[in-house]
Amino acid sequence: MTMTLKPLPSLSDNYIWLFINHSNSTAVIVDPGTAAGCENFFDQESIQPVAILVTHRHWDHVNGIEQLVQRYNIPVFGPATEPIPCLTNPLSHDDRFSIPELKLDFQILDIGGHTEGHIGYLTNNKLFCGDTLFSAGCGRLLGGTAAQLHASLNRISQLPDETAIYCAHEYTLDNLRFAQAVEPGNTDIQNRIDEVKALRRENLPSLPVSLQMEKRYNPFLRTSQESVMQAVVEHSGQQIENSEDCFRYLRMWKDGF
Ligand SMILES: [Zn+2]
Repeated sequence: MTMTLKPLPSLSDNYIWLFINHSNSTAVIVDPGTAAGCENFFDQESIQPVAILVTHRHWDHVNGIEQLVQRYNIPVFGPATEPIPCLTNPLSHDDRFSIPELKLDFQILDIGGHTEGHIGYLTNNKLFCGDTLFSAGCGRLLGGTAAQLHASLNRISQLPDETAIYCAHEYTLDNLRFAQAVEPGNTDIQNRIDEVKALRRENLPSLPVSLQMEKRYNPFLRTSQESVMQAVVEHSGQQIENSEDCFRYLRMWKDGF
């Protein structure tokens, strides 16, 4: 296989995704919150990074950029509306660009809500979604609104089922505990818990995961399901008119979980 995707652990639970073309030893770096791990890996494997892709402004996604740019002098792609260090290629919804060294074409999705300007990178049925969607969960509201994040998750939901989701954190088991509190009768949740526990015992990532799988147990993609709405009504004591209301109170429930 000439192309691989490597999750490089960073900080306590981040992944820096490295998209590597082994045929010419080049790579793209997604969300480098730290630099040293990337540099060590590239040195060991004699790989030349050719670009940095950034999903949003948070420090655990951007703090490695400056050091990497100083060493490799490579372009930095990122959201046009957020302060990203060394940004050379500001991007907005539906923008497209290519990375010729990896023969990859990327499409930008506006998936704001976690932060107001958060973007996702879509290529060949792979979505790098930063902190917008996690396996069995979603990002907190740290700049955007519930309506915005709900719309962004709907946008992701409309992608093909086989889309592979590359999230920026290993939060899956914690998220599944919450998912199970919301939908105790959903057997797909327990199946995913068993699967992820086995992976984590081997120190393997629970990611990527297909969108099709996520739709079966991620409560934040299931806010129009009767079972989720019912649970949110009971927990919040609020009237739920629609999927967006359900999402808003579900997000609050998770914040306090
Ligand atoms: Zn973040």
